[in-house]
Amino acid sequence: MKNAVVTGGGSGIGAAIVERLRSEGYHVAIIDLNPPADDPLAKAADVTSPDQIAAAFAAIREQLGPITILVNAAGLDGFSKFSDIDFDTWRKVIDVNLNGVYHTVQAVLPDMREAGWGRIVNISSSSAHSGQPYMAHYVAAKSAVNGLTKALALELGPKGITVNAVPPGFIDTPMLRNAENHKNLGGTVEDHIKRTPVRRVGRPQDIAAACAFLISEDAGYITGQILGVNGGRNT
Ligand code: NAD
Repeated sequence: MKNAVVTGGGSGIGAAIVERLRSEGYHVAIIDLNPPADDPLAKAADVTSPDQIAAAFAAIREQLGPITILVNAAGLDGFSKFSDIDFDTWRKVIDVNLNGVYHTVQAVLPDMREAGWGRIVNISSSSAHSGQPYMAHYVAAKSAVNGLTKALALELGPKGITVNAVPPGFIDTPMLRNAENHKNLGGTVEDHIKRTPVRRVGRPQDIAAACAFLISEDAGYITGQILGVNGGRNT
């Protein structure tokens, strides 16, 4: 049975991905700043730290063996006028959302190359589709994740490794509710539902289902794709 790592698996979308993959029989480890306390396969690590990521992967390998599935769901949003984004904040948002993906992919690739098989799914954002005001750093980072996904797909396809991105629309998680509470969403979640063709907010399970498919053997001919899960908000 295959071994997976889900970053950001301690909350929201990442937690739903962990639950879904475990329900399908995968062995799934979690890397998160705040991992669930009672989960023996959950490691506390910061995706921006190459040392912490290397140590977390080493510990998971000790427990499970080689890791051939990686889902990057750890993320950090931010809301400010561009002129108010100082360079430290800019760097932090890029560091978590983009450089974090660099570190985890570097950590997992040797196992995937050795196996001649691998699945990488990067959770980007629908904001990369048409931009989003007051989120320039976040949109820049998530757009770069989509680009990285395409480049890696071309490079790793011959090694049996697929790389895809899932950009969520509005998904009901602590991140979204926090943005709503701080009036950073450009309306309430209810307002956004009215502008969403399927007329509901997304659920973390909607993203988990897309990830489960992209990880499956059935999806072996799908790579370098950006699979929007957004209720029809972006087409
Ligand atoms: P969330 O805040 O509920 O979960 C994010 C998780 O990432 C948390 O458990 C947090 O501890 C972890 N994390 C943050 N920084 C980290 C770091 N440096 N190292 C390790 N772990 C870290 O948010 P969510 O809504 O579940 O978001 C999951 C992913 O989906 C993120 O990448 C987010 O950008 C993306 N996304 C979410 C939405 C949405 O509407 N919720 C929309 C578009 C994209």
